[in-house]
Amino acid sequence: MPEWFRRKTNKINTTSKKDIREGAWLKCSNCGNVLSRRILDEKFNCCSSCNFHFKMNPDQYVELLFDKSKELWLDIESQDPLNFIASKSYKEQLEKYNESSNGTDAVRIFSGKIKNLEMTLCVMDFSFIGGSMGSVVGEKISRAITLSQDKSIPLVIICSSGGARMQEGAISLMQLAKICSKLSEFSSKSNLLITILTDPTMGGTTASYAMLGDVIIAEPNALIGFAGQRVIKQTIGEELPEGFQRAEFLKKHGFIDEIISRDKMKETLSNLIKFFNKKRTAN
Ligand SMILES: [Zn+2]
Repeated sequence: MPEWFRRKTNKINTTSKKDIREGAWLKCSNCGNVLSRRILDEKFNCCSSCNFHFKMNPDQYVELLFDKSKELWLDIESQDPLNFIASKSYKEQLEKYNESSNGTDAVRIFSGKIKNLEMTLCVMDFSFIGGSMGSVVGEKISRAITLSQDKSIPLVIICSSGGARMQEGAISLMQLAKICSKLSEFSSKSNLLITILTDPTMGGTTASYAMLGDVIIAEPNALIGFAGQRVIKQTIGEELPEGFQRAEFLKKHGFIDEIISRDKMKETLSNLIKFFNKKRTAN
């Protein structure tokens, strides 16, 4: 075959017909259908074709769940206690993220009403350094626990996290113990904790409060685990089963209580709170 007749595949760029530019439309990463951003917003970031759950920010969760609410403790910032510098300086990283988030760090706390029932809500923010759990996250969640305990209000934590914040070293690991000891006291006084695990909930967050809920809920297809899949595979030297660390797999193995789609989240959450409030007054 003459040289000029050969197809030079390495120089051909193939683009999918479904690839479209950013703007009013986007492609569902699960089913490939083209979705209008406006409709996606109305459906709380769920695909109208396959119900794939895209990530949501804390403001969207507040809109999804609360009748009305107010945000608490906006004035806590990490002090970079280790003066940590690796590929970039932690101080600079904090400045950058604090500017884009108005200094909320990786968790935001809200107090308000869901279908007329009082609730304290902690929502983790994955866009703030991967939802990593550092001293500010620990302090804010601890304050939320104290507030809920003092007022006998149910506490709901929406988790979305890559794990502990390595830039704070042992101080970030101490938050696991700090929050868990607070939750132990909270629970001993018959208070209700509901955790909602969203995609992804990993590392120290899973190893502490995410798995301590009286009721543990997950969003469909959420990745939930401690170590990453590659690390586990290398350690045990085996292929992992299909769907490993996904919400459906965890439910089948008894790690979580229920998988709830976002369109049912407010109703389910308020029903649970109503049920446990009644139980509590009856006792
Ligand atoms: Zn889809």
